[in-house]
Amino acid sequence: MARPGEFQVGQLYLGEYRNGIKVWNQPIPGGLVYPQLPSKFPDPPMGYPTVVMSYPALYYLGCGHPQNCLEIYQYGDPYTGQLLKLICCGLCSYISQILTADEYNSYIDTPIVIT
Ligand SMILES: [Zn+2]
Repeated sequence: MARPGEFQVGQLYLGEYRNGIKVWNQPIPGGLVYPQLPSKFPDPPMGYPTVVMSYPALYYLGCGHPQNCLEIYQYGDPYTGQLLKLICCGLCSYISQILTADEYNSYIDTPIVIT
């Protein structure tokens, strides 16, 4: 259980609200975040697209959103004073991974550095 001001994997860094409007919904903590992207034909069929919509991507996070470029937030832990990097979904800010600055800057731990 995270203490106040702390973050853990599976949480939405920015929360479910944007500008006071509830945009994202995460019914189970750490689970899928809704709305998901569409994955089937529009109903009734519109004629186009004629194939099932799909979103191939480099990364699939626990929130279910396909991502090619992850959002990284820097965050100072109030308990340890350590600077942490939160590797997040660019859409819903789902926290996929929490790295220390050393891990983040290490080429061995983080071969693909996204800046
Ligand atoms: Zn997401």
